[in-house]
Amino acid sequence: TVRTRFAPSPTGYLHVGGARTALFSYLFARRHGGQFVLRIEDTDLERSTTESVNAIMEGMTWLGLEYDEGPFFQTERFERYQAVIDALLDKGLAYRCDCPKERLERLRETQMAAKVKPRYDGHCRGRQIDPEQPHVVRFKNPVDGAVIVDDLIRGRVPFANSELDDLILRRSDGSPTYNLTVVVDDAEMEISHVIRGDDHLNNTPRQINILKALGYEPPQYAHVPMILGHDGKRLSKRHGAVSVVAYRDQGYLPEALLNYLIRLGWSHGDQEVFSLDEMIALFDIADVNTAASAFNVEKLDWLNQHYIQHADPLRIARLLSPHMGEIGIDPTEGPALVDVVRAQAARAKTLTELAQISAFCYQDFDDYDETAAKKHLRPVARPALERLRAELEMLALEDWEPETLHRVVERVSEALELNMGKVAQPLRVAIVGRAASPGIDVTLQLVGKAATLRRIERALA
Ligand code: GLU
Repeated sequence: TVRTRFAPSPTGYLHVGGARTALFSYLFARRHGGQFVLRIEDTDLERSTTESVNAIMEGMTWLGLEYDEGPFFQTERFERYQAVIDALLDKGLAYRCDCPKERLERLRETQMAAKVKPRYDGHCRGRQIDPEQPHVVRFKNPVDGAVIVDDLIRGRVPFANSELDDLILRRSDGSPTYNLTVVVDDAEMEISHVIRGDDHLNNTPRQINILKALGYEPPQYAHVPMILGHDGKRLSKRHGAVSVVAYRDQGYLPEALLNYLIRLGWSHGDQEVFSLDEMIALFDIADVNTAASAFNVEKLDWLNQHYIQHADPLRIARLLSPHMGEIGIDPTEGPALVDVVRAQAARAKTLTELAQISAFCYQDFDDYDETAAKKHLRPVARPALERLRAELEMLALEDWEPETLHRVVERVSEALELNMGKVAQPLRVAIVGRAASPGIDVTLQLVGKAATLRRIERALA
């Protein structure tokens, strides 16, 4: 059966690259009716934090990437790793090494000077070392032959054993290293497919050798190419937000980010929009590109706009509410937020933007958009605004609805022999502050009678 895992190190937030790896692992498990496991690789005690664990879980939950097992914590499995290392020592598949730092440094310098890849020379392989004295434990890597990584994305990648180090399995402080813990866990958690960033590709032959020494059949591997920034460099903080939760806070919907992430390096014909169910049905890890893909905010914005427009307006209203709060607006004081969403959803790329362009429904704006005011609030517009004020003032509150409001604007334009735009645009700029808003009737309805009259007054002043 298929079992995949996501194995983040809790040394920061969940970033978009990690989220994409998690998504691929999740989809692969779902597609094959398997299980998806979350494993927290927190063996680096100095850099791992509880906040980071929480941030990772928060990101996973927000994205809706549900795991079937976990989270497992590697720090809770230290005894198990020690037992495995001891067993390797007993079988002569690992050995103790007490080479002093100075020796290793000299070795490294000599190798660098000779332009060979620095690696441990196996000096302690045959030596007897007192277990009570400070030492590390190294893996006895095969000296000849090759390891073929049969990668589901990259195909066959051979590594000569002569290139591989006798790597450290246990540090001198007794703690197990990444390559050991990952191997023990992948084997014991019965992971069938390891899907991870290609920054780990060089670890894979080493891990395969350790797995074989332990008597395990290695899993299948799929190394996902990295995500680049617009400048072709590896995506990082310099390029703006990389944390998944930061995207949430900026007003992106989880389905938009997931849809965006799956399209980074994977495609299905020219289809752009994928629901999670479609992703599960269509995703095949073998179709992932080998080339790195560049992060493109415009495309993410386009998808986010699409999802804002097509989602249930009640849900969008609920998600929008905190973004309104952030700009100092209490959306319970004014029109129902869901009506605002219905009117405005087609106009905003993010919830933050939706909040900004909807503020006028709840509070008077500070300044007119300069261009709009210059164009539409000229003296020639005065008669229209005066006439509108008079007509709207007379409307009963129960008539303050789109159809009647539309007729008022129509009547005024007929009376003044102006086309509708010559009346509606000055009115719009007067009550919104800008030249863009939903239809004038809906806009008037959302602003309400009192604010409409007050703002026309202001425009006439
Ligand atoms: N903990 C590793 C990392 O965050 C991932 C290990 C793996 O997927 O094998 O880079």
